[in-house]
Amino acid sequence: DLPPVPEAVAAGERPTLRVAALYPELLNIYADRGNLLMLERRCAWRGIGFALTRTTIGDELDPDGHDLLYLGGGQDRDQRLCAEDLVSTKRDAVHAHAARGGAVLAVCGGYQLLGHRYALDATTALPGVGLLDLHTERGEGRLIGNVAIEVELPGAGDPGERRVLAGFENHGGRTILADAQPPLGRVLSGHGNTGASGAEGARRGNVIGTYLHGPLLPKNAWFADWLIATALELPPGSLAPLDDALEDAAHAGARRAAGV
Ligand code: GLN
Repeated sequence: DLPPVPEAVAAGERPTLRVAALYPELLNIYADRGNLLMLERRCAWRGIGFALTRTTIGDELDPDGHDLLYLGGGQDRDQRLCAEDLVSTKRDAVHAHAARGGAVLAVCGGYQLLGHRYALDATTALPGVGLLDLHTERGEGRLIGNVAIEVELPGAGDPGERRVLAGFENHGGRTILADAQPPLGRVLSGHGNTGASGAEGARRGNVIGTYLHGPLLPKNAWFADWLIATALELPPGSLAPLDDALEDAAHAGARRAAGV
């Protein structure tokens, strides 16, 4: 059974993690909705509120209204529907959100749309919002399998400590980082951004893009907590600990699957 939601939260008292899910009905491949559920539960169990706004095609995005923007993965054809709208109606708000330190988590198809473009073939490219300095090109065949990476995030563990994120990837796109764009992490096992660069994902401040599904957060509870704390501008170690027996087992299983 799930622990009950504390009364103060049910009564709408703060703090509240305000999340905007972008195009949730289109960008949700591989049960990426599990990432949002994970955030909601871990907030609720701690007495932190959770407010989810679904923002889709045609909707305005409030640049000051959210602590975290979430974009999931998608098929090329669904990304095509989102890309034009993202660039034409939400680009300024996404940039303003990030510029004031707001957090962004974008997985796979969503990650690709945070770059400058996603080239589907020699003549067709989907536009991106350019929040991360990278571009993606469709390659020969798909990069599929279990994946583990090591990452260093501010406040996650001791200074300089590298921690592991484990998940599953399935993408046709190869993502090329600009020289000045740091990856999210280093591939320990699996393909990552291109299958050859050894780099996985990208990070600029609190903006994170990654190819890791899983869903990512249920298999990496420590990262879910880092995200919650960062989005709420709390020290990452300051969240109340939870009983993570199931989550730890899920993390260990994902690492085992990736051979790490
Ligand atoms: N359609 C994109 C690709 O194939 C993203 C896939 C995904 O989100 N899993 O690269």
